[in-house]
Amino acid sequence: GLSGRLGDVLEKLRGKGSISEDDVKEAMREVRVALLEADVALPVVKDFVAKVRARAVGQEVLKSVTPGQMVIKIVHDALVEMLAGEVGGAADDEDEDERSARKRDRVTEALDLNTTPPVPILMVGLQGSGKTTTSAKIGLRLKTMQRKKVLMASLDVQRPAAQHQLAVLGEQTGVDTLPIIMGQKPVQIAKRALDEGRKGGYDVVILDTAGRLAIDEELMEEVAEVRKITNPAETLLVTDAMIGQDAVVVATEFNEKVGISGIVLTRVDGDSRGGAALSMRAITGRPIKLMGTGEKMDALEEFQADRVAGRILGMGDVVSLVEKAARSIQVDEAEKLARRMEKGKFDLEDMLSQFRQVRRMGDVKGLLGLMPGVGKMKKQIEAANIDDSMIKRQEAIILSMTRRERRYPDIIKASRKKRIAAGAGTTVQEVNKLLKQHQQMAQMMKKVKKMGGMKGLAEQMG
Ligand code: GDP
Ligand code: MG
Repeated sequence: GLSGRLGDVLEKLRGKGSISEDDVKEAMREVRVALLEADVALPVVKDFVAKVRARAVGQEVLKSVTPGQMVIKIVHDALVEMLAGEVGGAADDEDEDERSARKRDRVTEALDLNTTPPVPILMVGLQGSGKTTTSAKIGLRLKTMQRKKVLMASLDVQRPAAQHQLAVLGEQTGVDTLPIIMGQKPVQIAKRALDEGRKGGYDVVILDTAGRLAIDEELMEEVAEVRKITNPAETLLVTDAMIGQDAVVVATEFNEKVGISGIVLTRVDGDSRGGAALSMRAITGRPIKLMGTGEKMDALEEFQADRVAGRILGMGDVVSLVEKAARSIQVDEAEKLARRMEKGKFDLEDMLSQFRQVRRMGDVKGLLGLMPGVGKMKKQIEAANIDDSMIKRQEAIILSMTRRERRYPDIIKASRKKRIAAGAGTTVQEVNKLLKQHQQMAQMMKKVKKMGGMKGLAEQMG
């Protein structure tokens, strides 16, 4: 429960209290309907709802939103998290310098192509899902953004026009295609493609396979055989966002019988709500790497979980309302803190308030934005290795102080330290460490004032 020792700042944050089981039940009924309407498979809906239900109960409600709205936001965030998964390529925490040193392209970075060339990419999926189109889109992208030498080969011997279709797209994009030899089987074509890839000094060989209208054994065996002999760096399951409930069968079969490394969702430009994405992600555990957003050759993007989550849930208004409420509290609190800092004041309540802001923003970089002299602080913070659990432990220490102690840290002597440490379940050394850290920050705030505000300090610290 909320103890009476908490300061005004914290009281204000509490809004309407926390989310009850009833609030969750009611909101979850809406969520369930929304997900089913978006064509998410029933078992996936059940599983997801159960997980999020547990997460939502007891969470704080922001002022100016209802508990129900708050639950929707929690559901939305869980959806994004689940859809996002991890995607290969460059890490997000990459330095700005590294970033600008290299031309970044999120589409090609989503693919994991770190093997000896020629690197095979295998495209699999049902007929009409967009394999051939996506093959050419990826080929074009690798060629233009990464300067790769790409060879494409159609293994589709089912339809007479299929190999020709890829050749036409190759001409259109300026990406080489393997010469067509009629009468060859898919495995033979794949071998010939890799052979040509080696001889011709190609970086990447894209293998576009045939699809059927429905899953069939022969097709699966054929594709599995091709995968076995080519050992692709990526095996991408291409599926239409409109596939609906069939997504479960398709994803399960391809994942179990062929093995896939990732998913490409096509026709995201259509009006399907794209629940298939969630089903496929949940069932295969494989990341959704790319999405097709049109028929044109440049209509290929890195998969954007938040965009698809918004469509699946179809409650964008509620989500943005809650986000706005969260932002306004951050702004309130940040402004209050900034005003105090300008005056050279920084007590333990300010420190607590800052910790909470940092945690709310999700990472330590949030703190940097609030602090003067960002460049220097950044290194210090990194050196101190501040993480979420560490901040929580420090919060606990401040929370077990009395209000007077937080306002006037000087009164905290040995016996008080012992009591505070016991209350926070930690040691006196940790309490000392926190007090010292606070002292350093408070000194810096005084310096800020002396030098005529943050601008002066920032200039000095560089
Ligand atoms: P395949 O049978 O799996 O090789 O599918 P195709 O690549 O031949 O694509 C079938 C149709 O879907 C073609 O008309 C493509 O232009 C179209 N298509 C593929 N991807 C997209 C997409 O992201 N958006 C839209 N609107 N159409 C697409
Ligand atoms: Mg095709």
